[in-house]
Amino acid sequence: MKILVLNSGSSSLKYQLFDMEDESVMAKGLVEKIGLPGSVLNHKVSGGEKIVIDADIPSHAVAIEMVTTVLTDAEHGVIASMSEINAVGHRTIHGGAISSSCLITSEVIAEMERLVELAPLHNPPAILGIKACAEKMPNIPMAGVFDTAFHQSMPPVSYIYGLPYDYYEKYQLRRYGFHGTSHRYVAARAQQLLGNPPESKIITCHLGNGSSVCAVLNGLSYDTSMGFTPLEGLMMGTRSGDIDPAIVTFLMDKENLTPEEMNTILNKKSGLAGISGVSSDMRYIEEAALQGNERAKLALDVFARGVVRYIGAYAAEMNGVDALVFTAGIGENGTAMREAICANLSYLGFALDKEANAQRGVEICISTQSSKLKAFVIPTNEELMIARDTLELIE
Ligand code: AMP
Repeated sequence: MKILVLNSGSSSLKYQLFDMEDESVMAKGLVEKIGLPGSVLNHKVSGGEKIVIDADIPSHAVAIEMVTTVLTDAEHGVIASMSEINAVGHRTIHGGAISSSCLITSEVIAEMERLVELAPLHNPPAILGIKACAEKMPNIPMAGVFDTAFHQSMPPVSYIYGLPYDYYEKYQLRRYGFHGTSHRYVAARAQQLLGNPPESKIITCHLGNGSSVCAVLNGLSYDTSMGFTPLEGLMMGTRSGDIDPAIVTFLMDKENLTPEEMNTILNKKSGLAGISGVSSDMRYIEEAALQGNERAKLALDVFARGVVRYIGAYAAEMNGVDALVFTAGIGENGTAMREAICANLSYLGFALDKEANAQRGVEICISTQSSKLKAFVIPTNEELMIARDTLELIE
């Protein structure tokens, strides 16, 4: 069984072709700058050279055409024809009330279109990718794996905001949560590493350019830090995360801002970049902090504090915690950030294994043997999760 996984962004398309016999990646790549000057396809066959194809790529449809051409290319391809592909799994972001991955039907597309209002940046490219695929490969089944689906298990006490209830009924204004595929993948792996106990309390920290924390109770999402949109929760690369909502109207009034300008400040100009004034990228901020940049140091402290605050909150909500998981760019590689976060967890019976924590980008237990609370670094693999879900759906 071969599954093609597609992740469509507004101007990009990532792909991975899996051989599900052994879950190996046969080839993967990225189309960048779709519809922009300088568009390019980067393609790599496992164990082979990376190839770069510069071309005019005006749309997602053309990008998908290029991907199918390169995958079946006599020299750089890995399959003889697209008919070898059994299904396509799409990373889809906002699924509203859709509570699990599902085969794409016209009803699913209609629901995603209805939800564009809630995910204006993410759902339109995913819909474009799905439609382009349906046109190019009409006989291959497709599945949608939604970032919000894992969090549909949250109880109302976790997802209802303290706003007039009418707005929940009228606009489905509630916490949805995101990064669900990643939280689900690493939580399931942590559950295995704990020896599959019948009951478990796990806190997963997906710390990357976008960051969120999830309380996973007995394998199900119980609460999560992102909300109605991916802006809520932890401070991120350029997103503010939690702020006093009154700041929004205050700033709009003082700076004479339109809602769109305010949105840009909260989503693109805040967070690590906003505080440090250096970058949204953790590596550059750490470098600047080491050179004595005070605002860079402050940005790191605020980031770590946010994670510590959510871990504390979720340990309290679940009335305990058995394991912590760190994943995504910062969670997997940011050894100093992990140490800073873990410095505040002795009240949970946690002790850091400093030697283990010095490793980057590998699965490892970073708590000492005697630590009451276990902590793992688990590299996330959303693409594999999408491929697995897609396979299960077509089987
Ligand atoms: P992601 O969105 O998951 O790709 O994560 C991107 C973030 O991971 C950026 O802030 C990077 O600076 C950060 N990151 C990647 N490698 C490292 C590293 N070695 N140390 C600290 N942060 C890192």
